[in-house]
Amino acid sequence: MLKIKSIMAREIFDSRGNPTLEVDVTSVNEIQTRAAVPSGASTGSFEAIELRDGNKKRFKGKGVLKAIKNVKKCSRLLKGKKFASINEIDKILLKRDQTAQKSKIGANTTLGISLACIKALAAESEKEFFEFLGKSKSLPIPFLNIINGGVHADNELDFQEFMIVPHGFKRFSHAIRAASEIFQTLKSILKEKRHNTNVGDEGGFAPQIKYPQTAIELILLAIRKAGYKPKKEVSIALDCAASEFFHNERYVVNKKRFKARDLVKLYERLVAAYPIVSIEDPFAEDDWDGWIELTKAIGDRVLLVGDDLYVTNLDRLAKGVAFSASNAVLIKPNQIGTVSETIDCITFAEQSNLFRIISHRSGETEDTSIAHMAVGLGVPGIKTGSVCRSERTAKYNELLRIEELLGNKAGYAKLPGFVKHQ
Ligand code: PGA
Ligand code: ZN
Repeated sequence: MLKIKSIMAREIFDSRGNPTLEVDVTSVNEIQTRAAVPSGASTGSFEAIELRDGNKKRFKGKGVLKAIKNVKKCSRLLKGKKFASINEIDKILLKRDQTAQKSKIGANTTLGISLACIKALAAESEKEFFEFLGKSKSLPIPFLNIINGGVHADNELDFQEFMIVPHGFKRFSHAIRAASEIFQTLKSILKEKRHNTNVGDEGGFAPQIKYPQTAIELILLAIRKAGYKPKKEVSIALDCAASEFFHNERYVVNKKRFKARDLVKLYERLVAAYPIVSIEDPFAEDDWDGWIELTKAIGDRVLLVGDDLYVTNLDRLAKGVAFSASNAVLIKPNQIGTVSETIDCITFAEQSNLFRIISHRSGETEDTSIAHMAVGLGVPGIKTGSVCRSERTAKYNELLRIEELLGNKAGYAKLPGFVKHQ
């Protein structure tokens, strides 16, 4: 049981130096918990709304003072009441804003409160957050973005993320060690080849390269040089973030204009040539036909992950399942705005046999909630950037602590059997 004494909010900075919302909840037993809200750059247009002040004289309009005011208003509805579950709390928040995209009070307002409250519920029952969420003891497979492109970097790569997936290990700690060694090896390779080794928003390198094939070849070289086996131990994943290069009904990759059908062929070629286990957002957020065609073509071999397509929204996900538009889903709590809706989405995806990957945003904070949610809710994948920059490694470090806490009982998730990775 949680009886809330107070809820307060403040403006803090995210990893890009923009303001974002942080919420503190204090219970009548003087237990205090805290949550911070992340922020995307390649946001889907169907996402719940992140409320910003729009006052150009403050933080170029990005201030969150309105959201802070809304937290205050919501706290009046929650203070002094007893709650047994997060659903009861979220129900009150959802009643306060019944718009389709939480445009009235903002999804940053609702998520900040919801996350801080579920942590308070966990603390009141003297449990770790992940333990409170469920019985799962499985650590997720990290999808680590080590070469950045798209809107996350100032280079000519159209695809946004080139990730390594260290799936062939028995423990999370071994997998993340391999990832770190590959990342450091990639740095030396880039230096040798006289590329810059600056990192993009999610901690991956952002060399001045053009072609996706070049990025993949560099990563494969790093995997081998670091002493690991591509495909068997470490594979490749892409986040194309295709909505960003979809213009006038065509996909523009390396200055060539592709129809959806030709883009399917490009992906088929990439998957045939390289150990790719997952492609996120290969098509734009409303190109259902493109998604369906690709799932028919390679959905029996590769994870096809809906991010902007589904925006962690149960209705859109249900449509995707009905159409067989993908076989996997990305889960971002701030795309929908409450913890209970996020959990509903994860549960539905699991029941529908979709692979789940919980994800950070490109603008992050030191909040580690997604690490706990991955373990507690049995989510088999986590995407939280490169093994570099503290807002990214905070999540991996928390997973290391959770693995240590679980000891021998700690499991390590597996990719589904149909994915070619042997
Ligand atoms: P975003 O990008 O956080 O900038 O939206 C991450 C992603 O597309 O997965
Ligand atoms: Zn994405």
